Amino acid sequence: MKATKKSYVSKTVRDLKPSGIRRFFDLAAGMEGVISLGVGEPDFVTPWHVRDAAIRSIEDGYTSYTPNAGLLELREEITNYVKNRFHVEYSPSEVIVTVGASSAIDTAMRTILDPGDEVIVVEPCFVSYSPMVTLAGGVPVPVQALKENDFKILPSQIEAAITDKTKALMICFPNNPTGTLLNKQELEALAEIVKKYDLLVISDEIYAELTYDEQFTSMASLPGMRERTILVNGFSKAFAMTGWRLGFVCAPKEISKEMLKVHQYALMCASTASQYAGIEALRNGEEEVEKMVKSYRLRRNYIVNSFNEMGLTCHMPGGAFYAFPSIESTGLSSQEFAERLLKEQSVAVVPGDVFGESGEGHIRCSYATSMEELREAMKRIKQFIDSL
Ligand code: PMP
Repeated sequence: MKATKKSYVSKTVRDLKPSGIRRFFDLAAGMEGVISLGVGEPDFVTPWHVRDAAIRSIEDGYTSYTPNAGLLELREEITNYVKNRFHVEYSPSEVIVTVGASSAIDTAMRTILDPGDEVIVVEPCFVSYSPMVTLAGGVPVPVQALKENDFKILPSQIEAAITDKTKALMICFPNNPTGTLLNKQELEALAEIVKKYDLLVISDEIYAELTYDEQFTSMASLPGMRERTILVNGFSKAFAMTGWRLGFVCAPKEISKEMLKVHQYALMCASTASQYAGIEALRNGEEEVEKMVKSYRLRRNYIVNSFNEMGLTCHMPGGAFYAFPSIESTGLSSQEFAERLLKEQSVAVVPGDVFGESGEGHIRCSYATSMEELREAMKRIKQFIDSL
C-alpha cells in the first residue's frame, strides 16, 4: 500500500503566517543604497562599560550556566531598578532573567494558558504576540486601537471582547508600532476592567525608558494590579542591547514559580556573559539611557513634523522610537506604499497592516536612525509623494 505523504510539521505551525516585517527586510537586503527605517532596534552600540563587563566575565572564566532564574546579583539589581524606576516591589524570587522580552512573553503564555483560553491582544502591536498565544494552545482575540483615538485602546473595547474563556489581556505601551503611550488615568481605566473580570495582564514594558513628554506608569504599580500583572521588560531597547538577548519578567510568586518551570525546561538560563553585562547596565547605565532618550526625542520631533508638513498626518508618539504616519491621502494601501517607496526611492518602511487591522493606512518608520539618514529619507519620501 502506498502511504499518503504526511506532513512532518504540525498544523498549528503550518497555519502560522511568516512575519510581514521579514519580507521587507528580504526585499531591501537585495538592493543597494537603501535607507532603512524598517528595523525596530537602536542605532547605538551598547555602551562600552557594559560590553567591558561581559568581556571581563569571560576573562574571569564565568562560562557555565547560571541558576535557571538568573544570577541572584542581577535579579537583585532588577528588583531595585523596578522599584526605583517603576514603583513596584518584587523579591528576587519573583524575577526570572529571560532570553529577551520575547522569551518572557512566550514563557508567560505557556505558563498561563490551557487549550482554548483566550487572550485579548491590543492591536496594532508587535507581531509576535498572537503567534505566541497560538503556539501555547490559546486563542488570540485581537482588539483594534483606532487612529481617531491616537491608537489608545478604550476600556469599553476591551470589555466588549471579554468572554467566559478570556484569561488575559496583552498590552504594550509605549507601543510598537504606534509609539502611543497611555497615561496613568488611561491605564487605571483598563485596570478596572481587568479587575472586574478577574483577568491577568501581560504588560510588555520594553519601551518604558523611552518616553518623551509624559511619565511612564507601569501597569503593575496600580492599586490591586501587582497580583494580576506579568511585567515584561528587557535590555534590548533602553540599553541598546538587542543582540545580547537579555530580558526579564516579574510576577507574583504563585505565577513566577510556575513560569520558572517552563523557562528551566525550555531555556535553562539566559546567556551568562549577557547577565554580567546586564548587572553593569542597571548599576551604571542611567546616564547613557538619558543621552539616548534625548537624541531620540530630537529625531522624533523632526520626523513627525516632516511627515505632517508633507501631508502625511502623524500623531506625536509619546514613546518608543517609531512614527506611524497615515498614508491614506495617497490612496495606496500600506503594502503598495511600502513596496513602491522601496523600489522607487530606496527607503524601507514597514506597512502598518502587518501589526493588525487598524494599522492599515499607515507605515511604521523607526527613527532609531542617524539624523543625516532621516533627513535623506524624508527628502526621498517627499519626492515619492510628489510623484504620485
Ligand atoms: N516587545 C516589543 C514591543 C518589541 O518591539 C520587541 C522587539 N522589537 C520585543 C518585545 C522583543 O524584544 P527582545 O529583544 O527583548 O526580545
